[in-house]
Amino acid sequence: MITISDVHKKFGLNEVLRGIDLEIAAGEVCCVLGPSGSGKSTLLRCVNHLEKINAGRITVDGQLIGYKQRGDRLYEMREKEIAAQRRDIGMVFQRFNLFPHLTALDNIMEGPYQVLGRSRSECKTRALELLTRVGLGDRGGAYPSQLSGGQQQRVAIARALAMEPKVMLFDEPTSALDPELVGEVLDVMRDLAASGMTMMVVTHEIGFAREVGDSLVFMDGGVIVEAGNPREVLANPQHERTKAFLSKVL
Ligand code: ADP
Ligand code: MG
Repeated sequence: MITISDVHKKFGLNEVLRGIDLEIAAGEVCCVLGPSGSGKSTLLRCVNHLEKINAGRITVDGQLIGYKQRGDRLYEMREKEIAAQRRDIGMVFQRFNLFPHLTALDNIMEGPYQVLGRSRSECKTRALELLTRVGLGDRGGAYPSQLSGGQQQRVAIARALAMEPKVMLFDEPTSALDPELVGEVLDVMRDLAASGMTMMVVTHEIGFAREVGDSLVFMDGGVIVEAGNPREVLANPQHERTKAFLSKVL
């Protein structure tokens, strides 16, 4: 569902992704671990072309991201085409990024109504279903400021799902939350994984990676140092850098 082939990304002279290869099958949950600054967020952002890659290629469900191929040359897509691709790729950030002036329900309805051109009643029915799915069926009228961080993040997940994405990308979705609110967000992500969603999850939640992850990738210095079955990598890391990192977070 997601293929990342020899992806390089530079900011100026700073090469922060130095040849990333990764495949995530349909329905698979891939957890990405690694120290701060190792390139995890940049890699996620490249998958939906929020960052342009300098070399390599990324496909989602067979579609080349951000570029069109004619003959053996690649041309960058127009904004409109990129926007169309992004609809298939849900993203949830560390900060909840809800529209503060809209209720939870309106936050979720906004995309399908404005972008997908569905009727308001259809959008509302679907938004209520999604709110119920994330355990907030009775909070549709609340504004973000009236919700806890964990509730806001669950609304953010529902909002991403409202666009019916083919894959979901999560960038440290629980890192900004008070510890007692982490579990409710991870539970929603666990249900989503069980429903068959393809997910790429940057996280420091080792327990989640072990229990829910189908694969685990450890990044450091812009490369994948080690990848494999989460249970195996966590129990028996092969590389010194992975061992050093895990000894700090476990
Ligand atoms: P991580 O998410 O693993 O902490 P990031 O992908 O955010 O790492 O950052 C990787 C490196 O890229 C860091 O050195 C960071 O300073 C740099 N970087 C990230 N975004 C930008 C940017 N927009 N401009 C310049 N440098 C950036
Ligand atoms: Mg990051």
